[in-house]
Amino acid sequence: MGLLEKMLRVLFPEKSSCLVCGCPAEAEIICEGCMKRIGSRQGFSLCPRCGRYLPETGEGSRYCSECREAPPAFFMARSLGPYGGDLKQVIYMYKYTGYRSLCSSLGMLMAELFLKEQCFWDSSIIVPVPLSAEKMRIRGFNQSELLAERMGQLLNLPVARCLLRTIDTPSQSKLTRKGRQNNIRGAFNINGPVWSPGGPGAIERRYAKVLLVDDILTTGATAAECSRVLLRAGAESIYVITLASGLQEKI
Ligand SMILES: [Zn+2]
Ligand SMILES: [Zn+2]
Repeated sequence: MGLLEKMLRVLFPEKSSCLVCGCPAEAEIICEGCMKRIGSRQGFSLCPRCGRYLPETGEGSRYCSECREAPPAFFMARSLGPYGGDLKQVIYMYKYTGYRSLCSSLGMLMAELFLKEQCFWDSSIIVPVPLSAEKMRIRGFNQSELLAERMGQLLNLPVARCLLRTIDTPSQSKLTRKGRQNNIRGAFNINGPVWSPGGPGAIERRYAKVLLVDDILTTGATAAECSRVLLRAGAESIYVITLASGLQEKI
């Protein structure tokens, strides 16, 4: 099924059908089979640190060259799968075609991923990556915030909108990792009062283990910059979950 057809189905649903494969589905928007498939990283190995993918070589996981040279400020990032194919289309529909209720299925897949990775279990709070006021006005919702809220419900963890995006940086899509790091430097700030009722700008100890949630980790520059700000405010450790992540740029 092509993208246009899928979008038409979203806008003019005849009957309930899976957004990915088009099969008749019950109340769910993505059928069980497709849920399994988009939540799979089969055929890929990943960098144990940033979680970015490399087509499977049979040599197992190893750190990507960028994490070897300069490890990011977060401790570990994981995603449902590489940014491409059905996963990419589902993310597009979620963000741009008004199908925000997809946050329910996608948030559930992220919660499943959380449960599979023991490193995440210590997390004491979930923090979504914020949108700029301008993007928020255009899109009407923050895709990462809805995912964070869904995960919070399922995992019984508090969600804090404690980051603010103070600068709407130019598009990152054509930049390298280094370029993105420079581009995004200083774009986030701590949203004090929401974060810590007892002391603006500081992180309460009981919330010091942060799970950062975003939709896509491309080079990791955004997640790293958010982590830097959170660590500076007193966070102890940052783990990251995204829907998708990019491929390693070089080996
Ligand atoms: Zn399906
Ligand atoms: Zn890496």
